[in-house]
Parts: sequence; C-alpha cells; structure tokens
Amino acid sequence: MTSLPEPASVNAAVDVAGLVQTLDRELSAASPAEIVATALRVVGRDRLAVVSSFGTESAALLKVTADVDPAIPVVFLDTGWLFAETLAYRDTLIATLGLRDVRSIQPLQETLARADPDRELWLTDPDACCRIRKVEPLVRALAPFRAWINGRKRFQGAARAAIPVVEEDGARLKFNPFANVSRADIEAIYALAKLPPHPLVASGFASVGCMPCTSRTTGTEDSRAGRWRGRAKTECGIHTTKTS
Ligand code: SF4
Repeated sequence: MTSLPEPASVNAAVDVAGLVQTLDRELSAASPAEIVATALRVVGRDRLAVVSSFGTESAALLKVTADVDPAIPVVFLDTGWLFAETLAYRDTLIATLGLRDVRSIQPLQETLARADPDRELWLTDPDACCRIRKVEPLVRALAPFRAWINGRKRFQGAARAAIPVVEEDGARLKFNPFANVSRADIEAIYALAKLPPHPLVASGFASVGCMPCTSRTTGTEDSRAGRWRGRAKTECGIHTTKTS
C-alpha cells in the first residue's frame, strides 16, 4: 500500500475526493483489521472515531478496533429511547474489550424540550425524531474528528448494498471496514473471541435500536425488518446526512 497518504496530507484535507478514491482502491480487498489500522495510521488516533450503536452485531467491529488500539474514541448515541439492555451491553463490552474512550452522547435537553416535549415525535415524525436524537448529536460528537469508522455491511442490503470501503462524508472521511464481510464472518469473530451477545438477541431481536422503533423479527425476515416496522423508513439518517 505504498500510495497511501501520510497523516499530514489527510489532516490538511487538500483533496478529500482524491484521498477517498486512493484509500478505497487500496483497501478494497483488505481485512477489517487492515482497514482500521490504515485509518489509524493515516488519520491519527486523536482525529479518528468509531461510531457504535452497541447493537446486536456491534461487538465484532469493536473487537477488531480494540485489537488495533483500544484507545480509539468510540461515539455512542444515547438517544433517550434505548433499551436498558443496550446500555448494560455497552458497559459489558467496555469491560470485556478494554475500551478506553467510549463517549455516550445525548441530545441537547433544550432541543428535546422545544421539539419533543411529549416524547411522541418518534410516532408523529420519526425523521425529525432521529434528526434531533441521532443526527444532530452525531454532528456535534464528530466535530473534533477528521474521520469515522462504522459497522455497516453490504449484506444488509437496501441502501447498504453498494457501500464502498472508504467514502466521503463532507470534509470528513468515512471508513466501512465491514463493507465486504459476510454474516458468517461476523459470527466467526463472535465465536473466536467468545464475545457476549446483545442481551435481546435471545428473545428474538435481530437488530436493536430505539425501543419504540424496534420489533422482533421472524427467522425468514431480513435482520433489519424489525426497525421502523410498517414504515418506509429504513435508516435513521446518520448515514444519509453529511456530518460536515
Ligand atoms: S429510532 Fe425512533 S425513537 Fe430513536 S431517534 Fe429515531 S424515531 Fe426517535
């Protein structure tokens, strides 16, 4: 990977599009660990964050990143509507993986008081609810960072079916180390590292987000079918809105 840029050039952000193109080409067949290690090398730990929901598959990416460097900052969006099991799972994984810098980010109280005083926005306007509880907090949380890592997979289909390994997020870089992995690869990471499952998996939740917008799935359904069930909505917006 001799053509990869040096840290100074990444942080100068002279040509984000060109940089993304180079990194995506160089990392197209790389392993998740190689992608995380490269992101760390070219961006630097102080400028790189992992964004994790601490959901049903999150431990795999957190394990990979912790093996590279457990001090990489991890941003966790605590929307105020999460299951208690997810908050407990966050704490379990922090202890299990030795994560040293997990930042639980909450929506601004003044925004909630103004835009969602009755906590019914998830029902009346879920896009607006996701905007104030996820997208805006993420934009704030990512302000100090030059690049972020997330756990989306192509096998999840829909808008995720064609994600690149590295993409442009405004002036920021976005790394998708699991773009190429299969469900079996994820299961293998869990098995090999003996990672604890999310507590709600045993009761039929294949994918876990906020309480009002998450339901169980049957064995034949897509894993994300229980998210915003009955609505056209399939994404919360953090991956479809530029963070810078
Ligand atoms: S997933 Fe549901 S409850 Fe959570 S922020 Fe979005 S609309 Fe609101």
